Amino acid sequence: MRRSKGELNEFQELTPKMLDESEVAIVKDAQRKVYSDEIKALAKGNTVYKGSPLFRHTPVLSSDGVIRIGGRLSKSDLAYNTKHPMVLPRVSQDAVLIAQAAHTAVGHLERNSVLAKLREKFWIYGGNQLANSVARNCVFCRRYQAKPCERVMADLPANRVEAALSPFTHCGMDYFGPLIVRRGRSEVKRYGVIFTCFSSRAVHFEVAHSLETDACINAVRQCLARRGPVKSITSDNGTNLVGIVVSGVTGRRIYGSWSLEGSGNCLGENSLLLFHFSKKYVRDYSG
Ligand SMILES: [Zn+2]
Repeated sequence: MRRSKGELNEFQELTPKMLDESEVAIVKDAQRKVYSDEIKALAKGNTVYKGSPLFRHTPVLSSDGVIRIGGRLSKSDLAYNTKHPMVLPRVSQDAVLIAQAAHTAVGHLERNSVLAKLREKFWIYGGNQLANSVARNCVFCRRYQAKPCERVMADLPANRVEAALSPFTHCGMDYFGPLIVRRGRSEVKRYGVIFTCFSSRAVHFEVAHSLETDACINAVRQCLARRGPVKSITSDNGTNLVGIVVSGVTGRRIYGSWSLEGSGNCLGENSLLLFHFSKKYVRDYSG
C-alpha cells in the first residue's frame, strides 16, 4: 500500500480506512496474478472471455481497480461490498488466510456459515472446497471433533460363553431404583434387583425392601428358589452385596468369606453358590 511520507509513524495506530485500503491492495495483487487477462479485458470495457471461470458471474472492474461480481443486487440496501463482493482466487494464500479468519469469526462453525461470512466481502471461486479445507485443517475443530479412542475389549469370561447350561447357572446381579411406592398413607422406597443370565440373557427381577444386606439376601434366596441352582453370581462391589458374603461368617444361611481381589465362597444349605465381585473398570464382567 502506498503511503504518503509521514502519514504513519511508529506511534500512530492503524485506522479502519488504512485497513480497508490494505485489504483492497491485497485482493488486487492476488487478482493480478490469476486474472490478468480478465483485468485487461474489463479495463478496455469488454466482457471477459467465454472460457473464464468468471464469465457467468458478470464481473465488473470497480473504480478502485478490483474485479467484483456484478450480480443483480445493485438496487438493494446492502453494503457495497456485499452487493459487489471482491473476486478472490482460491489458489492464493491470501484467500486461505481470509477464510481462516472468517472461520474463526463465526466461532468455528461449518462450511455454510464460513461461506456466508466470506460473501459479505469476497467472492471466492471454489469457496466450498476452501471452506471445507479450512475447517478440516483447523487444529481447534479437529481437537473438539475427534472421536475418543475405543479401548480393545478383553475376551469374555468363560461363564459368559459356556453353552448348554440351564438358565441362571451363572448370572449377574445389580440393584436399581429407588422406586417410590405407597404403603398406607406414606410413601416408602423400594429397590429392584435384577438378575441376568450370562448365557441366555434372560432376566429375573426381585424387590428389595431396603439397601440392607438382609433385604439383599432375601432377594438372592427368592431368585434361587424360583430359578433353581445358581452356581455363581457376579456383582459390582456394592456394600450390601459385599455384605452378603461378609455376613456369612455371622452364621446366616448363606456363608462365605470375602476377598476384594477375587471371589468369596458362599455355601447355601444345599448348593454351592460362588460370589464374584467385579474388579474395578472391568465393566463387561458383570453381564
Ligand atoms: Zn475451527
